[in-house]
Amino acid sequence: MSDITQQSSASLRPAVFLDRDGTLIRDTGYLDNVAGVQLLPGVDAALAALAQAGFILVVVTNQSGIGRGLIRAEVVEQQHDRLRELLRPAGVELAAVEYCPHAPDTGCTCRKPLPGMLLRAARRLGIDLAASFMVGDKPADVSAGHAAGCRTVFLGAECAGADFNAPDVPAAAAWILAWR
Ligand SMILES: [Mg+2]
Ligand SMILES: [Zn+2]
Repeated sequence: MSDITQQSSASLRPAVFLDRDGTLIRDTGYLDNVAGVQLLPGVDAALAALAQAGFILVVVTNQSGIGRGLIRAEVVEQQHDRLRELLRPAGVELAAVEYCPHAPDTGCTCRKPLPGMLLRAARRLGIDLAASFMVGDKPADVSAGHAAGCRTVFLGAECAGADFNAPDVPAAAAWILAWR
């Protein structure tokens, strides 16, 4: 029996939270099929290195296309099955894939820049947020990471408040591994 409320801090694990579109896979905008799920270069090896170093891997993705009526939730879940399948040859297992299905104007607490998805995963999986990192290609990813108490890596040139800027996930992973 495991009860999260009884979990001592010693048993909490660090995580790397990862945005999906434009971070792990190509961002095609409201991807509504499974065949379009394509890993960006080096992502599989980079995630394998992070897992090897003891990080659990959690994807946190805004999928407002569902709430906007553009994509069915079932298709998004199939996309996540495909993502797991693409990562498996590198030995990478995702601990969770959290998605926010809501449109921006619904006032939900999970859509990034709010930290709801990170906090939910942290409770469920026993994650040490202060020892964790958020990696993403939008300022909303950085905001969500900071709001959850994580360090943040922005994939791009500049983002106010990001702890590090990197061109891609392999560079982000190298920085995270050097930081520890
Ligand atoms: Mg993105
Ligand atoms: Zn939401």
